[in-house]
Amino acid sequence: MSQSQIHDEKNLNEPKKANQLDPNWRNDALDLDLDLDYGMQTVAVRAGQHRTDEGEHSEAIFTTSSYVYTSAADAAAHFNGEKTGNVYSRHTNPSVRTFERRLAALENGERAVATASGMGAILTMCLAYLKAGDHLLAANQLFGSSIGLFNNYMAKFGVEVSYVDCFDNEAWANAVQPNTKVIYCESPSNPLAQICDLGYLSQLCKANDILLVVDNCFATPALQRPLDLGADVVIHSATKYLDGQGRVLGGALVGNDKLMQEAFTVVRSGGISMSPFNAWVFTKGLETLKLRMQAHCNNANQVAEFLANHPNVSTVHFSGLSDHPAHELATRQHHMKDGYGAIMGFEVKSSGGLDSKSAAWHVIDSTQMVSITNNLGDAKTTITHPATTTHFRLTPEARAEAGVEDGLIRLSVGLEDVEDIIKDLARGLDSL
Ligand SMILES: *Cc1c(COP(=O)(O)O)cnc(C)c1O
Repeated sequence: MSQSQIHDEKNLNEPKKANQLDPNWRNDALDLDLDLDYGMQTVAVRAGQHRTDEGEHSEAIFTTSSYVYTSAADAAAHFNGEKTGNVYSRHTNPSVRTFERRLAALENGERAVATASGMGAILTMCLAYLKAGDHLLAANQLFGSSIGLFNNYMAKFGVEVSYVDCFDNEAWANAVQPNTKVIYCESPSNPLAQICDLGYLSQLCKANDILLVVDNCFATPALQRPLDLGADVVIHSATKYLDGQGRVLGGALVGNDKLMQEAFTVVRSGGISMSPFNAWVFTKGLETLKLRMQAHCNNANQVAEFLANHPNVSTVHFSGLSDHPAHELATRQHHMKDGYGAIMGFEVKSSGGLDSKSAAWHVIDSTQMVSITNNLGDAKTTITHPATTTHFRLTPEARAEAGVEDGLIRLSVGLEDVEDIIKDLARGLDSL
């Protein structure tokens, strides 16, 4: 049995201590004392840095799988709980910890746990907070792989899963069962950018002893902090805006010490850990997150106006439009002024003998600059046809439930000049 296995086993058998990971994590080598009231942008640039004796100004990358001890007694102390500290990078790594601390500070959470991808964070959530016989109640509009994970794997392990219209508060309340343990949603959602009433859901969860888990990938802490609105756990696909330049995969959970300790144990035991290099990319990405999100949102607001006024577009799904049913709710929930995110869905009318799918494909294929890719949250604008890509694996019923029509296009508005983005979309829309 390897040392790391012994370590895992010891900790599994031990009663969970709130600060098992690192008792001093809040102030150990922090570049910033977060008890002082710093603004968000200061936190984004400085929180969580682990500066070594070399005195490096920028954050270092610790590419090491393991760590050495000063003596046999020192090694033993790391395993018997007398000392905390790094023993193996599947458990902890200084670069990963810097990212976790910075993200936790931005989300106003006690702690974050980084994972290898966004799906890794969602799997960790399931393994940490659900067991056979429990009920997972989820929004009907979710990232396609999240629905796949819930339907194909959680169901296989005996977790009951059901979905409700994410904007319908009454439907949420009616769908709660005695065995409901987690309510799960995205706000804004994928791919229709629908908004959930997080304050309402938080009250519903508290009254019924349910955890509220919110995928904050589309908003990011620059726009919205779900924990401040009453959520228990925030999920991130860091792959998207936290990096913002489409370079690496990663994910995270954020919440209180107890919930994060449970998530941490799953990540460590299951090997869902983030690589140090990726953590470093995300740490640097967080420094410019707010500035990038401001620019993304400005561009998106203008693109949405253009689409809403185009005769060949039947519907634009974007809460930034003043006639969107969730416009007021989004304005209340998002703390960034005029920030509604930069991802939208729009439906193309069937015209000129083309059915709605062919019309949507025509618009996509007519672009010259925008990238045809299923990624999103990138500096580059991306365009996708969800029904035949991201949501293709769902059954037609599940697709309809998620509101993914054949004419639907998902657009992730990037940081190019907005005039160029609009010109590129107009090519196909004008020639339908
Ligand atoms: C991409 C995405 C995920 C999954 O993240 P990966 O990093 O690709 O595993 C989860 N939720 C949302 C909303 C996403 O957009």
